[in-house]
Amino acid sequence: MDETTKQKLLDVMKSKLNRQLLYYLDVCAKCGACKDACHIYRATGKAELVPSHRADLLRRLYRRHFTSAGRVFPSLYEATDLSDQLLDEMYQAAFTCTGCRRCMVYCPFGIDLTWVIGVEKAMLSAVGKVPEELNMLADAAIEKGNSIDLYREIMQDQIRSLEPELRELTGMPDATIPMGKKGARVLYVALAGTGSILPPAVIFNLAGEDWTLSEFEAANYGYFLGDTARAARIAERIVNEAKELGVEEVVLTECGHAYRVMKHLDEVWSKQKFPFKVLSVFEPWARYLKEGRVKVLRPIAEPATYHDPCQLGRNGGIYEEPREVVKAICTDFRDMTPNREKNWCCGGGGGLVAQTDLEEFRADTGLVKAEQVRATGARIAATPCENCRLQLALLNERYHLGVEVVAVTDLLVRAVAPGALRKPEQEPRETAREQEASA
Ligand code: SF4
Ligand code: SF4
Repeated sequence: MDETTKQKLLDVMKSKLNRQLLYYLDVCAKCGACKDACHIYRATGKAELVPSHRADLLRRLYRRHFTSAGRVFPSLYEATDLSDQLLDEMYQAAFTCTGCRRCMVYCPFGIDLTWVIGVEKAMLSAVGKVPEELNMLADAAIEKGNSIDLYREIMQDQIRSLEPELRELTGMPDATIPMGKKGARVLYVALAGTGSILPPAVIFNLAGEDWTLSEFEAANYGYFLGDTARAARIAERIVNEAKELGVEEVVLTECGHAYRVMKHLDEVWSKQKFPFKVLSVFEPWARYLKEGRVKVLRPIAEPATYHDPCQLGRNGGIYEEPREVVKAICTDFRDMTPNREKNWCCGGGGGLVAQTDLEEFRADTGLVKAEQVRATGARIAATPCENCRLQLALLNERYHLGVEVVAVTDLLVRAVAPGALRKPEQEPRETAREQEASA
């Protein structure tokens, strides 16, 4: 490793050494509680995939380069010099973690290993050692923000082509998908492509909401790279749009990390207080059902379960609203055990779903989740996150679970729309990569 690269890595590390990180680096007692909490270690039993080991790589570097004891007696203090080999190990550790934070729930010291792993990712990003697919997706989102005029017309054509089906589903001849509507109360942010536009448009129209569709997609691949500067640039496009339109609420689609970024992280990154509220789409959905603004016309009788996405639930604080929606429309609801903050990760988060070379790894490490789904006896597995949905579909196939994996809003539309929504099997949604390519 050349000196410039080494210095760049150490500079990034130094810039991240705040009180919280120092606490996480100092207090680990190597008790091993986190290893039993991690679905990846549970499925593989590999020592290099133990959560505390992923953080140990940074800990060893910290001791070697930032403490006098580690500098003088490296072997005594488990201190390691920065090297290409250590960087390779760090890459493996950082980009195979789903960021689910289940390990933190079980750590007696509350160590947030994803915080430490986030610093490792930031260092790797600074020297360009990142998964190429995530890198390309982050660049594509930034490029779209820079040239939105080129995309606007294409998007408007796509939207207009959805409206005949929207009218059929709602039974409302004047149902529309507004874009760029100044003064709308709600700005809804979908994913790239059209899969997450039509079903929410049905609900907004049925509820009589004053809404408008964002020109930008909710997914933020800069976040998965640990590159907060790029993540903030991607989020900034939505923040500026919301300010220009003067909306009261920004409502994020079924995407766990997109919600977490906008709700909990971007105000800190961009050092500002948003003049609007940030909500997950399930907050209005649950409210419309309660207020009778959308009514259940066709209750679903098949046994149904619900998967808490880590980014929406444990890391985002949204447990009840999507459950309320599923319970309101499914007469035989079966919660998984454990659930909410102790729910097992499906294995698709952290950008892993977008990395084709990790498909086998994801299928293997989703074993615990597959067993959890099977134990419910459900025939429908609903989940409100596109990454989780794609991952559960993979597990369904790999472990022969025999369930229908479905987005919660698609299920809701099935129960409340006067017209019937086509089932996802008949019209598979695109993967994130395909969505970006088509956007
Ligand atoms: S549970 Fe916490 S203290 Fe124990 S090994 Fe894991 S990170 Fe360290
Ligand atoms: S965040 Fe999740 S995947 Fe990553 S080490 Fe912790 S438990 Fe394992």
